[in-house]
Amino acid sequence: MKFKITVYPLRSVLQRAGDAALDAAAALREGASAVERRADEVLSRLRLEREVHDLKEEIGLQMRAVGEMMYASHKGRPADSEQVQEILEYVDGLHEEMEAHRRELETLRGLLICSDCGEGNSAGSLYCQNCGKPLSRG
Ligand SMILES: [Zn+2]
Repeated sequence: MKFKITVYPLRSVLQRAGDAALDAAAALREGASAVERRADEVLSRLRLEREVHDLKEEIGLQMRAVGEMMYASHKGRPADSEQVQEILEYVDGLHEEMEAHRRELETLRGLLICSDCGEGNSAGSLYCQNCGKPLSRG
C-alpha cells in the first residue's frame, strides 16, 4: 500500500536520470577525439557509480517496506504475501541490475572480473584473488 507509491514512480525517476546522462554521453561521443573519448569514459563511470548508489538506496527502501510488513504481521496485522513476493522479485531485479553495473564499472577500471565469484582482479592476474579460480580473458 504505502510502498506502492514509492516503487514505480521512484524507478521511473531513476530511468529518466539515466537517460539524460546517456544523451549527454552520446552528445560527447559525436566529436570523438581521444580527449573526448576519455571524457566519455569518465562520464560512463560517473553515471554507473551514481546508478549503483541509487539502486542500493532503492533496495534499502524496499527491504524496509518488507521489514515493516513483517513486523505488522508479528503485531497481528498479517501482510499480503503476494505483495511481499512482488517486492522481493522487484528487489531481485534491482540486485541483478546493480551487479551488471558493478561489472561494467570494474571493466572500465581495467580489472579482470572473476566469472565465478565476481571479484575484480588486477589486469595481470592469472587466478582470482578471492576464490582462486583461473581467470579467463575476454
Ligand atoms: Zn573468484
